[in-house]
Amino acid sequence: MDIINPQILTLITTYKCTAACENCCFNCSPQYSRLMSISEIKEYISTCKATFPSIKVVVFTGGECTLLKDDLISAISFCANLGLKTRIVSNGHWGKSLETAQNYIKLLTDNGLSELNISTGKDHLKYVPLTNIINIIQAADLNDKITGIVVSIEKREDYNGNNPIKILREKATLLKHREKTFIVESPWVNFRKRNILFNHQERIEKREGCKNIFSGIQINPNGQLLSCCGLACEYTPVLKLGKFTQDSLLRKYKQQFNDILKLWLYTDGPLNILNQINETSKIECRHDCDYCLELLTKSNNIKKLLDIDNKRAKEIVLKYIIDIKTLKK
Ligand code: SF4
Ligand code: SF4
Repeated sequence: MDIINPQILTLITTYKCTAACENCCFNCSPQYSRLMSISEIKEYISTCKATFPSIKVVVFTGGECTLLKDDLISAISFCANLGLKTRIVSNGHWGKSLETAQNYIKLLTDNGLSELNISTGKDHLKYVPLTNIINIIQAADLNDKITGIVVSIEKREDYNGNNPIKILREKATLLKHREKTFIVESPWVNFRKRNILFNHQERIEKREGCKNIFSGIQINPNGQLLSCCGLACEYTPVLKLGKFTQDSLLRKYKQQFNDILKLWLYTDGPLNILNQINETSKIECRHDCDYCLELLTKSNNIKKLLDIDNKRAKEIVLKYIIDIKTLKK
């Protein structure tokens, strides 16, 4: 079976965070203590790059990856020396003033960073003020080595007129290099009370396959390989591939393509699968990964997944083969 080569290496460097957002899907908080060490990070990067030359970008995320301090800088520089692009995902706690933001971005870019991804929204704002995000947007605009900055804002209906997207988009119109700044809303799942939806109107009825699976290598702070870094990845053994080791990386990655369920997630996506295995669907989820949680953690669904017959399995494999033939054209 042909495999899809991974393009991105994502290192979930820690679940420690300066914030403790109410609906953080990984329950990150200042209480968590484990951080990837620089020797672990270098081993992951050099092994993944040697095993999969298709990898061009390394993403450092968490938790809050900037808590790795000097180790994050060394890791970025290590990637640059290997010809790899880098991106960090952060809540922007370090942007307390324009000057602080400029200095930190200079440190990052002098060592090779080219992309920034900043998260904000109602939960985040309890810990990191919007002025930090504004300082970071402006500082990134002034730094020519930053090629792209994405600010992801929790998509929800309960801002009561204080939606940060409006303020940030207005600020973005004043930037010198507007084209490299993207202010986007991203789905935000109420993790504490799953039956309450943050944006009823825009419930996602996605019927496409999940293309996050098979797009990269993901490693969590405990050195476990994950099939994706979506919301469900830490809550089901289905999306865990076992401990990272140099000797087993290629085998574990390739094994995914022998797993009918993963092929099915890739070709059809979790909502489509739920609809196919359930005669009547009363699913109160709204984000693709939320459907995935429903599919992979509810015993009634797991039982039905285990019962799929040969005919269905063959159809999934055929669909996957056609999909990747189209992809490779
Ligand atoms: S800032 Fe991000 S990682 Fe930190 S607690 Fe909030 S959602 Fe989680
Ligand atoms: S839909 Fe499922 S497989 Fe896809 S990214 Fe989300 S959790 Fe991962």
